[in-house]
Amino acid sequence: MNCLDYRRVLLTGSGESGEMLRHRPGCVACSELQREHLAFEADLRRALEVPVADGLSERLAAAVRGPATARPDRRRFLAAAAVAAGAIGIGLYAWRGRDDPMAMACIDFVMKDEAKSIMMGAMPRAEAERMLADTLPLARIERVGRIMHIAPCPLGEGTAYHVILMVPQDKVTLLVMPDTPMARPGRAVQHGMYASVVAAGRGSVGVVGASAAVVDSVAGALRA
Ligand SMILES: [Zn+2]
Repeated sequence: MNCLDYRRVLLTGSGESGEMLRHRPGCVACSELQREHLAFEADLRRALEVPVADGLSERLAAAVRGPATARPDRRRFLAAAAVAAGAIGIGLYAWRGRDDPMAMACIDFVMKDEAKSIMMGAMPRAEAERMLADTLPLARIERVGRIMHIAPCPLGEGTAYHVILMVPQDKVTLLVMPDTPMARPGRAVQHGMYASVVAAGRGSVGVVGASAAVVDSVAGALRA
């Protein structure tokens, strides 16, 4: 088990395997990540238990209903990860050394500000629909996955709409930036996370997740 494998599995929320438990005590970086991850998950659980506006609350409730629904998702993810292992070997090559500044800012947001955004609460759906209509309509996002949270957040010079999206394989974060047009697609890899920024309407959208393959497929689906 190496650090990348450790991070990838930890960030899927599957818990630590025996191999991971043997790796962590000898590794400062992974110990640190595990501490941050536990704290984040605890914040996230607390935040998701608070009632939020509009129909989002039912969807949040469905998402945290418990192990009965969580486990099949996890098994599907692990099965998909095993099947994709060969493809990821190739896919990862395309990600190596990527450090686009906007994509890096998206990863930074997930590390530092995601929990805060969730705790501040979701925006009303009607408002989200209006704000994103010209950039990335909610209907298009919902063809890709289930929206668990959406709220406006400061990012760089402008405002990003922070979306937590459950897709069949994983949970990903979207940062929809209506006022940030992009010259060319950007990617970044940091803290065991992958970010891809692609054009959306006159603006752009960043996709962040723990799996390169999932981030690529979500970015592709949103662009199409
Ligand atoms: Zn390690």
